[in-house]
Amino acid sequence: MSVEASEAEVVLLMGPPGAGKGTQAAKLAEARNLHKLSTGDMLRSHVARGTELGKKAKGIMDAGELVPDDLIIAMVEAELGPMRPVRALLDGFPRTPGQAEALDALLSKEGTALTAAVALQVDDDELVRRVSGRAADEGRSDDNEATVRTRMEVYRRQTQPLLDYYAARGKLHRIDGMGSMAEVFERIDGVLP
Ligand code: AMP
Repeated sequence: MSVEASEAEVVLLMGPPGAGKGTQAAKLAEARNLHKLSTGDMLRSHVARGTELGKKAKGIMDAGELVPDDLIIAMVEAELGPMRPVRALLDGFPRTPGQAEALDALLSKEGTALTAAVALQVDDDELVRRVSGRAADEGRSDDNEATVRTRMEVYRRQTQPLLDYYAARGKLHRIDGMGSMAEVFERIDGVLP
């Protein structure tokens, strides 16, 4: 294995809306010197800049549905492809088995593989409480209650199969997402190599 490949590290953080994923992703990226890659943030930036991708994605995002795999994969490839070594904290990607397979293919082309997939687990009542708070704080147009419920359902329906995908490959770590930011961070950091 080359030196570059041995320095590669790709950690995936999964969790339903409101699980504290964004906050933990930022902390982990800083602590482990990883480039944080949030497909939600990237898409919101495209929407704000009015790019072609942003125009295609806006209605889908506002409805709480998933942007098609081909658009997401192209956007992620453009970021990860040139990275040497690949050191990334993935937040909100992959969301579907198709995206997971595309990520595996991309990493294997770079001579590396996913380090770990971390799934934050938080109960539903707590999630609704947290997301309602965030809607008031940040004014995100996709944080109203109906959209939040759709996004939770989309998470369960389309993203849960990823848990099986990564469990089958021995990559999955389920982490209790209840508790303070610091407690959850310690739990995540504790399972990473
Ligand atoms: P997030 O900030 O990760 O909750 O993403 C906000 C919205 O962006 C989601 O509800 C989706 O509409 C879209 N989105 C973000 N990441 C992805 C992805 N990997 N695949 C499909 N859609 C995505």
